[in-house]
Amino acid sequence: MELNGTRLILSKISGGIRTFVHRQIVGRIKTCSIKRDKTNAWYVIFTTELENPVKREPKTTIGVDLGITHAAVTSDGQYFDYPKYYVQAEKKNRAANKSLHRKKLGSNNRKKAQTKLASIAKRVTNLREEFLHQVSRKLVNSADRIVFEDLSIPNMLKNHSLAKHIQDVSWGKLIRFTVSKAERAGKTVVLVNPYNTSQRCSACGEIVSKKLKDRVHICSRCGLIICRDLNASMGIRTLGLRGIACGEPTSGFGLCPK
Ligand SMILES: [Zn+2]
Repeated sequence: MELNGTRLILSKISGGIRTFVHRQIVGRIKTCSIKRDKTNAWYVIFTTELENPVKREPKTTIGVDLGITHAAVTSDGQYFDYPKYYVQAEKKNRAANKSLHRKKLGSNNRKKAQTKLASIAKRVTNLREEFLHQVSRKLVNSADRIVFEDLSIPNMLKNHSLAKHIQDVSWGKLIRFTVSKAERAGKTVVLVNPYNTSQRCSACGEIVSKKLKDRVHICSRCGLIICRDLNASMGIRTLGLRGIACGEPTSGFGLCPK
């Protein structure tokens, strides 16, 4: 097969197929597959091969706190929130889901509602992934080493609502996106134990108990008063650096420095 501008040429089909190339193809094309989804949209997926980038010695490090109030907060003060149009699309998705369940089983109306829900759900997924790609790109551009909490370690201090579960799935994706972008740029992702990261003072190490609704970190020992998520991200950064300094094993992805 071959991609000639926007025309895809396949050996089994005569003539070219007009395609919308939504992303530049990087590297040498190895395989190509064609997929049709529930909404009857067709996709062409290319697998490409890239040269290994040169791993560079990390000079800068940022910690990232993933949350619900803010999607992500970094230790250098960047705040990432889900865009309004995404929140609206998500609302529409819930409404379409409810509407589907009101329709009679096997009815034509139910079928219609199903198709509608599938296309709205696809839009929500696309918007979410687009946002996660933008955030991971900015994270990788911000520092040579990016530190996250390891989501595979159960964290009893954080709440376990359904909303949180859905978030965790997205955060897993954000970390994977960051790992793959970091790999391509010769940068590093480190995962640390999430235990107490939201409670510990990033300046003096004191445990400052907070409920979920407490948005400000106020340390009576050293006097630090900052946004709780910013405090957490700074603590996560420190944990990442400490783990590297003392050779403590950090977990995940096999990307952590030895
Ligand atoms: Zn303190």
